[in-house]
Amino acid sequence: MSSGNTPESSKPSQTYTASCHCGRFKYHVTHSPPLSDPEASVTNCNCSICSRNGYLLIYVPESFVQFEKGSHDELTKYTFGPKHKIAHYFCPSCGTSCFAQSTDPNFYGDMKVVNVRTFHDLDLKSLTLKEVDGKNF
Ligand SMILES: [Zn+2]
Repeated sequence: MSSGNTPESSKPSQTYTASCHCGRFKYHVTHSPPLSDPEASVTNCNCSICSRNGYLLIYVPESFVQFEKGSHDELTKYTFGPKHKIAHYFCPSCGTSCFAQSTDPNFYGDMKVVNVRTFHDLDLKSLTLKEVDGKNF
């Protein structure tokens, strides 16, 4: 696999292959522990954007996402709300919502939020979902 930052070797991790629907963007995401581990939680939030995009989200350091095809800069960015705090990124060709990221470098700016629904070969029923009541935040 690619060099650079990888999770501590003592902890089990898994690297997933993912893509948008049309394949313009293909990327690999490493998560520790593997998502089938009950300790790995995937966020299922009911806020206005998560519910519309059908997000199931994990949070990983930016360096744990490696693009094989396309690049982050080619995704279309969408922000909303008075502060535009979180940017949402989707494929301009097929519309798949792939990522979200804080727009404030001092507020988790180096973390990427990844939609695991874009992962290949991931059994969604094996996930431990963390229900978040974002609608009422
Ligand atoms: Zn696409």
